[in-house]
Amino acid sequence: MTTKERVAWINGKTVPESQATISINDVGFLYGDAVFDTTRTFNKRIFKLKEHLDRFYDSLKYMRIDPGMTKDEMAKVTMDILNANIPLLGPNDDYWVSQRVSRGVRGTGQALKATVVIECHPLPLKERAKSFRDGLQVIIPSVRRTPPESMSPRAKVHNYINMIQGDLEVKSQNPDALAILLDMNGNIAEGLGSNFFIVKDGVLVTPRDQFVLGGISRETAIELAHELNLEVVKQDIDLFDAYTADEAFVTSTSYCICPVSTFNGMKIGSGKTGPVTDRLQKAYSGLVNMDFVAQYQAHL
Ligand code: PMP
Repeated sequence: MTTKERVAWINGKTVPESQATISINDVGFLYGDAVFDTTRTFNKRIFKLKEHLDRFYDSLKYMRIDPGMTKDEMAKVTMDILNANIPLLGPNDDYWVSQRVSRGVRGTGQALKATVVIECHPLPLKERAKSFRDGLQVIIPSVRRTPPESMSPRAKVHNYINMIQGDLEVKSQNPDALAILLDMNGNIAEGLGSNFFIVKDGVLVTPRDQFVLGGISRETAIELAHELNLEVVKQDIDLFDAYTADEAFVTSTSYCICPVSTFNGMKIGSGKTGPVTDRLQKAYSGLVNMDFVAQYQAHL
């Protein structure tokens, strides 16, 4: 199907995006009472859909939301919507592909029934291309990452206010900066949509599972590191560790692996993509059969 407008799936119907509308009484809109997950395509092919749907259903379980669909049904509709939207992609572009489920619409006099949306959105390749040339400038904001005692960061829920606050704070100092938040103990946690790694003496270190979202790209980076015979440890990273790291990078579905050049204004290593980060980027590109760094840089 070729259409001028992308389509989305909402509560059982495939409609043009402009007609995929949510009620003002949807509790996802009212309270952020919703869950989502997002994967991406590489050269139009979806990546690790199963892993993303496994995490999605764990987030739904944590939130006690029943999507009213099996994982297999969710996977099939996801592929149908993606396939319908592929013809609208430019030659060097790819999609974010998301499933979103809210607890439902209040005030109908009936029990809440989940609102389910599946949609595609072009990746912000142009916007982020610079980070692959220059590295990311990470700044730590004063606001701390929501602790597991308040809400588990391991669930991917529709409430990003904590990280948005952090990002607004650092962007007011430097519009190009990326916020990475500390946890309540003063160790590095994560940012608005990305996990964090340092490399010291050839060993990769990333924060412990309890304090961050279990990023699919984080797990992918760990698997690739093991294939390259690199040691990986999950442990607390404090500011001293970060300032004195040989290399640092973030992982996310869209960034895959993106180098960090400065941390609170201090240069990390040489300030350029470090040798371990470079090896991991190449291994990631090999795994997805596409040079994702070149794809970003082509948008410069
Ligand atoms: N942390 C948070 C808070 C996120 O929202 C994301 C993006 N999903 C990540 C980390 C990275 O996860 P992934 O590699 O699965 O995109």
